[in-house]
Amino acid sequence: MTIVDAQKKMNHKRLLNKKFCTFMPQCLCACSLAIFLVFLMGSCTLKVAEAPGVYHQVKKGQYLWRIAKIYGVDMKVIMRANRLSDPNKLRVGQYLFIPKAKAVLTVETHKSPISLKKGSFTWPVDSRRITSHYGTRKGRQHKGIDIVAPTGTRVVAAASGMVVYSGVLGGYGNLIIIDHENGYSTVYAHNSKNLVKEGDRVKRGQRIGQVGSTGRSTGPHLHFEVRKGHQAVNPLGYLP
Ligand SMILES: [Zn+2]
Repeated sequence: MTIVDAQKKMNHKRLLNKKFCTFMPQCLCACSLAIFLVFLMGSCTLKVAEAPGVYHQVKKGQYLWRIAKIYGVDMKVIMRANRLSDPNKLRVGQYLFIPKAKAVLTVETHKSPISLKKGSFTWPVDSRRITSHYGTRKGRQHKGIDIVAPTGTRVVAAASGMVVYSGVLGGYGNLIIIDHENGYSTVYAHNSKNLVKEGDRVKRGQRIGQVGSTGRSTGPHLHFEVRKGHQAVNPLGYLP
């Protein structure tokens, strides 16, 4: 090998090295971008798969409609996900699955309701014919009173408050629940028609539905309940 040949070889090596060196950053860039994209896609699909909801532990004085509102999830969706037949039947300490929620949120708790006097609620229908009273009936607990009235008779709100449930619910048929925001709620069942929707504010005596016989019912009547906290109480103790 002559000196010229050796120099040529060295130059060629340098050139190769140079080419290799200038090529490397682009290659690294492309590779890292590809890895990053794959990682990003992976983490996105992972997120969807890993966060379909959260578990919320029920504390004393927390109501389902309040929990649903805080999480921004439809109460009926939570009921379906947890196979709840009655939105009033929550146990303290129970874990509720909240679909689509990303984090456990703080839900305000209501203090034990004060005791309301007789006459605090108005009669929900213009009828006083009670065919079934509050209490045990054929070995089963009847949580309200059945007031007989013709189909279509107006059903009114027993006190002002917010409609927290309006829809069909098992044996209740067309059901309305009003939260009176003092720890009490009232329940109106078997309606032929509900005239209010969830979130509506209603005044005492305002028309909310029509008497019917939907759900588990043998004839047109209103099944009316008063709930103190989660506990059903005798409505006659609060009606005039
Ligand atoms: Zn009843």
